[in-house]
Amino acid sequence: MHSVELETNLATREAITEHLAQMLEGLYSTDAMASETDGSREAALGELEAFSARGYGRRNFIDADTSRLSAYLRHGQLSITEVAAHAKQHATGRERDEFLKQLSWREFFYLVMEQEGTGTLQNLEPPKYAVRWQAELPDDIRDGDTGLPCVDAWVERLVTDNYLHNHERLWFAAYVTHFRRVDWKAGWDFFREHLLDGDIASNALSWQWVASTFSNKPYFMNQENIAKYSGNRWCATCRVACPFRKSYETLERELFGTTFS
Ligand SMILES: Cc1cc2nc3c(=O)[nH]c(=O)nc-3n(C[C@H](O)[C@H](O)[C@H](O)COP(=O)(O)OP(=O)(O)OC[C@H]3O[C@@H](n4cnc5c(N)ncnc54)[C@H](O)[C@@H]3O)c2cc1C
Repeated sequence: MHSVELETNLATREAITEHLAQMLEGLYSTDAMASETDGSREAALGELEAFSARGYGRRNFIDADTSRLSAYLRHGQLSITEVAAHAKQHATGRERDEFLKQLSWREFFYLVMEQEGTGTLQNLEPPKYAVRWQAELPDDIRDGDTGLPCVDAWVERLVTDNYLHNHERLWFAAYVTHFRRVDWKAGWDFFREHLLDGDIASNALSWQWVASTFSNKPYFMNQENIAKYSGNRWCATCRVACPFRKSYETLERELFGTTFS
């Protein structure tokens, strides 16, 4: 399509959505939608300017002020180098170091993908426990209808806000992979469909890290961990039979048939 014609056609939100639906046909299971987020370079710079890493020491708590720069990094409105330069100039001490460490995961994952190519989307190593993962994401997970208030809330937020805090991503990935025995690739694909920052390298390699196909042991959590880092958001009122309410030792034995520590 000629660029002037395209510009004119994209003048309305409906036209953008229609255009996206055509361009992205077959890539998503639901209808394509234009995001509410302003994806301009100006908006990205505004967010970067506003970020100081103050309070970043609490980054594992889901109500912490993290940068929310991932979508801008993913889509190229910001580079890793300029975000790192900003942090070095405006943040200090352990908060600065912790932020730079997290940012370097992104760079590392790109380097791994550069080396592995499409292999990034296959198991990089065998899982570290005996498991047969099912290929498809079950409907109750996809629909946020598992009956577990925390899990269903993560799905709701993923689908509605197109974002999840890193800890929620880890918990959800562990639930899908280890508690439900679903192949990480199905979870990867679900995240790819909904995350505004959906990124092949960070997404696939984080799932593989949880699954233990890119680490020496599986990542998993228990209810105490969810309660602590969510400020008891779901656990305080939860009345269901909680699969996470066990010690790490018991969960390790039940999920993996072995201990890793
Ligand atoms: C299962 C799973 C899937 C993920 N999928 C994606 C994805 O598709 N796209 C994506 O950008 N990130 C992904 N992440 C990494 C991380 O969760 C997000 O980058 C982070 O939550 C984005 O929020 P933020 O910008 O506020 O991060 P901040 O904490 O402010 O971190 C600053 C930047 O550092 C990078 N970063 C931080 N933590 C990580 C991490 N653990 N791994 C890689 N980079 C990191 C991101 O670019 C982030 O924007 C995934 C993590 C998990 C566990």
